[in-house]
Order: sequence, then C-alpha cells, then structure tokens
Amino acid sequence: MTRVPKIIIIGGGPAGLMTATQLCDLEADITIVDHKPAVGRKFLVAGEGGFNLTHSEPLASFIQKYDRQLIQDWVTQFTPDDFRSWLKTIGIETYIGSSGKVFPVEGTKPIEVLNAWLKHLKKASINWQLKSELIDFDAKTVRIQSKTGIQELSYDFLVFALGGASWKKTGSDGAWFDLFNKKEIPLVPFQSGNTGLELKESTWRKDFEGQFIKNCRLRIGELVVAGDLVITDYGLEGKPAYAVNRLLRNNNFRGLTIDFKPQLTLEKIETILRNSSKVKQAFAELKLSASIYNWMKEELSKDQFTNPALLAKQLKAFEIEVTGLRPLDEAISTVGGVSMDAIDSFGQLIQYENVFCCGEMLDWDAPTGGYLLQACVSSGYIVGKEIALRIE
Ligand SMILES: Cc1cc2nc3c(=O)[nH]c(=O)nc-3n(C[C@H](O)[C@H](O)[C@H](O)COP(=O)(O)OP(=O)(O)OC[C@H]3O[C@@H](n4cnc5c(N)ncnc54)[C@H](O)[C@@H]3O)c2cc1C
Repeated sequence: MTRVPKIIIIGGGPAGLMTATQLCDLEADITIVDHKPAVGRKFLVAGEGGFNLTHSEPLASFIQKYDRQLIQDWVTQFTPDDFRSWLKTIGIETYIGSSGKVFPVEGTKPIEVLNAWLKHLKKASINWQLKSELIDFDAKTVRIQSKTGIQELSYDFLVFALGGASWKKTGSDGAWFDLFNKKEIPLVPFQSGNTGLELKESTWRKDFEGQFIKNCRLRIGELVVAGDLVITDYGLEGKPAYAVNRLLRNNNFRGLTIDFKPQLTLEKIETILRNSSKVKQAFAELKLSASIYNWMKEELSKDQFTNPALLAKQLKAFEIEVTGLRPLDEAISTVGGVSMDAIDSFGQLIQYENVFCCGEMLDWDAPTGGYLLQACVSSGYIVGKEIALRIE
C-alpha cells in the first residue's frame, strides 16, 4: 500500500483493544470508535466479581471449552500464556489461583489493568472517537452518529468488535444486529449464556434465598459439573448452573439432574437413611442443608420421601425442572450474533473484503473462568495480525 492505510475499529472492549494493540506500531491511521464515553466498560464489570483474565489449564484441554473449531484455532495461535506474557509487557503481573484461574496479582484493580492497556495504546497516535455510534457501513465507508451529526469515514480496513447483547449499560447492547441483518450477513439470534436457571414455581426457595447448596454435582447428558449453587427467588445461580446453559438450551431445558452428595455412594446414603428414625435426622447426619430437606419435601411424593431406597435415589439424581434461563441482559455472556459461517479463518466477513469481526459478537460459547476474555483477545489478535500482514 503506497499511502498510509486507514483502519477503523468499532468497539473498544478487549477484542477491539487487542486488534489495535497488534497494529499500533505500524504506520497506519487508526481510529477507535465507541458509543460510550469511555472504552472497556464490560471489561471493568468483569473485574467486579473476581477478574479471571484467562485460565492455566493445559492448552489441549483449554481449547475443548469452546464449541467452535475456529475459536479453538485462534486460541491456539494466541494462547493464555501469550496473553499473560503480553500483560507483563504493559506492567500487569498475573498469578494462578487455587482454582487454576488466572488473575492480576493481588492489589491490582481492574481499572489499573485497563489503564495500563490504554496507556500502551495512547503511546501510538490513535484517534479516539467516543460517544459515536455505528449506524451504517458499505464496502468503502462507515457512517457514525455523534453529537455533532453524522460523519462518513472512509476506510481501508474496518473491524467490528461490538460485543454481545448483555449488560446493555456497558455499551454492549446488540443494537448492531438489525443493521447486520439488513446487510444480509448471516446471523444467529442472541441467547443468554452463562446465566442463572429459572425453576418452576415453589415455596421452599423463599426461605433460603442467598444460601448455598455446597459441593453438589449437576449432570446433563455427558456433562458433569461440580461446585456450589446459590438459591435465588427464581431458581439457581453459580458456576455449575452457568456451565450447563449450553446443553440445557439444546435439550429444551430437560434432563438436568443434581447429585446432592457426590462424595457418598447410593448404598451409603440409603444405609444412613434406613438407620435413622427420622428423615430430618438422616439429613443432618448426611450434612445436607435445610434447603435441600425442604426442596425434597415439597417436590417428592410421600412415598419417595419416606422410603430410604427411593429417597437415596433422588438425592443422587434428582431431576430439576428448569423452565428457562435468566434474561439476556443479566447474562455474563451471550451466544448468537454473527454466524461463524459469515466469516473466514481470519474473521473477515465473506461478503465484505477487509471488513472483520471479532470478540463476543461472533456466535460461540464457552464457560466462565477466563475462557470468555481469552477468546475475545485471541480473536482480536488474529484480526490485528492479519491486517498488519496485508499492510506490510
Ligand atoms: C458480570 C460479568 C462478569 C464477567 N466476568 C468475566 C471474567 O471474569 N472472565 C472472563 O473471561 N469474562 C468475563 N466476562 C465476559 C467478558 O467481559 C466479555 O466476554 C468481553 O468483555 C467481551 O469483549 P468484546 O470486546 O467482544 O465486547 P465488549 O467488551 O462487550 O465491548 C464491545 C464494545 O463495543 C461498543 N459498541 C457496541 N455497539 C456499538 C455501536 N453500535 N457503536 C459504537 N460502539 C459500540 C460497546 O460500547 C463496547 O465498548 C464477564 C461479563 C460480565 C457481564
């Protein structure tokens, strides 16, 4: 390319920022557009409840957490170790927690991580066009609405990193979906990912809201997830609940069972139930909480509740009646968005040359625990590297 190439990145979340990171040392005219007054809002929200930047598990099993081959390939090209090494270059040290999750070292606030990233980018002469919303684009120009009116910007490379459709207040409102739909870009409707489970109406939950069901195990099909659940007025929250979202969606919310006592065999539980004069006493001996006692009492028939063999069976594999997932806006992530069939192996839209998509706006799914941010930065890396290659 003989003149300085114009690159426009729309969306200043981790995916867009990582694209810019790969390009900021090149001779290019880069503009980052975001409709919020500041970038990285959802990145900061992610930081509020345990900031899992990525995960330390071996790459071979790490990539199995993604439902799309292309995301697996991208994460293989920019790995969790690469991400951690890069963070180190901007002064952010990380550590591996006891769960294997990777966090910024203790005392480092999420805003410090974001500021270190932005400081690194601000060394390059990037144009920051905030409070500016994408309203349209074609093969050569993009239209942006800001307070001062509509601007038409021409580009050589255009990157969309517009995020999913949850936590609208962070800017990820999914409003771009309609525009992309009009352009006939293949899309998949948004659905909640990594969100709480809504259960059928019941009375037992109201007395136990906020309490944990500790060390239980959820099973659906081949998937088994252990951990703690939290009881809410509408149902259940917590890591195991989020992890079963994908299979529940595919299974019309059927087939989810809970093992309240994975440490004990069916036979052992039955023996304890048989040797106790009262069910309540047996629950105490089994260290099963009052919430589980009340749940079982309400849902099981008298026969199931009082017969040790039948009750033991239920405690090992009680079928939870899930009625749905929590609404989109509450979800930690969303699935759906731009179909993986709409892009090539570099994230370029098949219908538009030199126009790319990355991050959560693409239709892929992964559990919480650092896998979401890792896929976003890996996809941003791939797009940035590809543009760099085309410029040079
Ligand atoms: C409560 C919560 C906790 C989380 N915790 C973790 C965690 O611990 N670990 C983890 O790995 N992940 C976590 N995540 C998920 C993670 O934050 C997201 O997957 C990630 O931020 C997505 O990055 P992105 O760059 O694709 O999009 P986003 O971060 O959503 O950024 C998209 C950007 O595009 C802008 N934008 C959107 N539409 C337009 C438009 N029309 N015009 C201009 N700009 C636009 C938005 O303002 C926004 O700045 C969490 C998410 C939530 C909600």
